[in-house]
Amino acid sequence: MLLKDLKGVGPKTLKELENLGIYSLNDLLNYYPYRYQVLSPENFGTLEEKSGCIVGKIESNPRISYIKRNLNRISFRFLTSNKIINVTIFNRAFLKNKIEIGKEITLIGKYSSKTNTFTASDIRFYSLTNSLVEPKYHLNKNIKSSLFNKLIASALTEDVPISDYIPIYLNKTYHFIEKKEAIKEIHHPTNLNTLKKAKLKLIYEELFVFMFKINYLKYKNMMSHDYLKRNFKKTDINTFIKKLPFKLTIDQEKAVNDIINDFKDKKRMNRLILGDVGSGKTIVAFIAMYINHLSNYQSVLMAPTEILAQQHYENIINVFQEFNLNIKLLTGSLKKSEKKQIADDVKTGKIDIIIGTHAVLNENLTFNNLGLVITDEQHRFGVNQRSNLQNKGQQVDVIYLSATPIPRTYALTLYGDMDTSIIKSKPQGRKDIITKLKKESELKEVLQHILAELKLGHQVYVVAPSIEESETTELENVNSLKEKFTKAFKGLVKIGVLHGRQKSSEKEKIMADFLAKKYNILISTTVIEVGIDIKNATMIVIFNAERFGLATLHQLRGRVGRNELDSYCYLISNYEKERLEVLTRSNDGFYISEQDFLLRGEGDVFGSRQSGDMTFKIANLKRDYKILLQAKQDSEQYLQEIIKNNTSSSYYNDIIKELDFID
Ligand code: ADP
Ligand code: MG
Repeated sequence: MLLKDLKGVGPKTLKELENLGIYSLNDLLNYYPYRYQVLSPENFGTLEEKSGCIVGKIESNPRISYIKRNLNRISFRFLTSNKIINVTIFNRAFLKNKIEIGKEITLIGKYSSKTNTFTASDIRFYSLTNSLVEPKYHLNKNIKSSLFNKLIASALTEDVPISDYIPIYLNKTYHFIEKKEAIKEIHHPTNLNTLKKAKLKLIYEELFVFMFKINYLKYKNMMSHDYLKRNFKKTDINTFIKKLPFKLTIDQEKAVNDIINDFKDKKRMNRLILGDVGSGKTIVAFIAMYINHLSNYQSVLMAPTEILAQQHYENIINVFQEFNLNIKLLTGSLKKSEKKQIADDVKTGKIDIIIGTHAVLNENLTFNNLGLVITDEQHRFGVNQRSNLQNKGQQVDVIYLSATPIPRTYALTLYGDMDTSIIKSKPQGRKDIITKLKKESELKEVLQHILAELKLGHQVYVVAPSIEESETTELENVNSLKEKFTKAFKGLVKIGVLHGRQKSSEKEKIMADFLAKKYNILISTTVIEVGIDIKNATMIVIFNAERFGLATLHQLRGRVGRNELDSYCYLISNYEKERLEVLTRSNDGFYISEQDFLLRGEGDVFGSRQSGDMTFKIANLKRDYKILLQAKQDSEQYLQEIIKNNTSSSYYNDIIKELDFID
């Protein structure tokens, strides 16, 4: 059965589901809740100042007051536990017709005995008798949870084929529940205990599949004996390096040596360069491309966005000025005829180096003699893309660049199929970004500092967690910040706004305009480009900093501090002082990510949502680290088993097919 044939899915809903990445019934069922709300009716007396759920009867007609723009209030009297109380609900004036005297309803919120008022954040128009564990999904305003719940419910009644990727013997060993049962429980938990079992099953499965892929890729690399013959002189490399405008850092030198050894080795290169933001990975990539060129092979460098590709292109043209190489930028915005010319020149070998976005992979280029493929910002892509690349380029050498400093033990596991070079040292003269934690009440001070930077002609980034005002949170948002800043700086400044709901072409345009200094301030959600190098930006101000993982904050902060000027990062938050202070103490991404793991909280190894299929649907690497290690061991054993017996289970085939044939 297709998603479009599911009850309740019309063309519009289909489209909205696609926006959430849901294309099939399986995708829908695999769209797990991110949290659960447990509703169990309580006596309001026990609810003083903490959230809870009460059941009762409406005793009066609703009264509505409009307080100011975007703020209204419904209030009515309510009978619960033999007592009459007042109920207040904000910003739900549209519910007024449903509030009828005598109706039995359920309210979720907080009670204050001082005012005898229950402030409800949520309302159900039925009387809840037993406890209920409600799933909460990441949705948007076009797909409401009521609709989504209905779709899930009807998908669960269809007999959707669901594969279990855990081998049978492991399912037995761990007494896991059936996959189908787990999927049902994850959406419609019977109780907290069954939910726990469902989670365990799905977490293990996700980590097992992931580790199986890593182990398989490692095995494949080990077994492959094709490699390209290389022919270069160390002196040529040294001459090239001497001509660079700066001296390489120790770790850059080490990475270059690793790469030289890989090139010499009778084995394909498969190397990850892991380095903090601003540690200078790009130049290492350029040197690798130069070495590759010395043996007369072509290279490709891929970036996740056009603007980054453009930036790399300008850089490389500079660096290779004196060397007679033909370098071309290939992006989606080229004319068809230009693309064709490039394709022709790649085929005849006239072009030595192609810089582009990942779309390069889909251009069906035929290379004359491709020798090296480099992927920038690898953490955006996942394990599937790794093999994809290798499959396209046959036996080429591969380098990945990633700005995700993660603790070493995690790196060895998660990138276990690759050799790793770590760049820890920062380029000389690079100053630490001066980072300060400020309460919202201290905002004035921050605004003054922004103004001072603007007066120096510098640019400023401002980051907020959400796009627009919402009735359920008090988070700072991009739109209202724009208003505030426009007012505060009385039209002196040009402000650009960037967020995830814009089309990618629109986002790129705004970034490019900021780079061209058409804006003084860029207000955005966390979507600001990670690799972008805007030297004139000297300050970043991050609102509701408590909402972000330390790794994300560190990556965001890396947007500034890209020159000799002093750069500043302000974290605005009233909460989580201890955790956020790690950033005020340190500029070392590796240290920060270790602290993120040590301290309470989710810990986001990869930075939020920037991480391709390295973001797990349900597993949390920190919380589930033990399961990860177990899954690693189990999947290694399982792979050995398959290799030894040359068995080919459908399970094994599915995953390998996924790795071998994706485009
Ligand atoms: P990232 O590792 O985040 O991709 P980049 O490669 O963009 O960092 O480098 C950041 C900046 O540092 C660039 O402007 C680059 O030219 C500069 N840089 C790189 N290596 C050195 C070095 N050894 N000495 C001085 N500046 C350097
Ligand atoms: Mg970079």
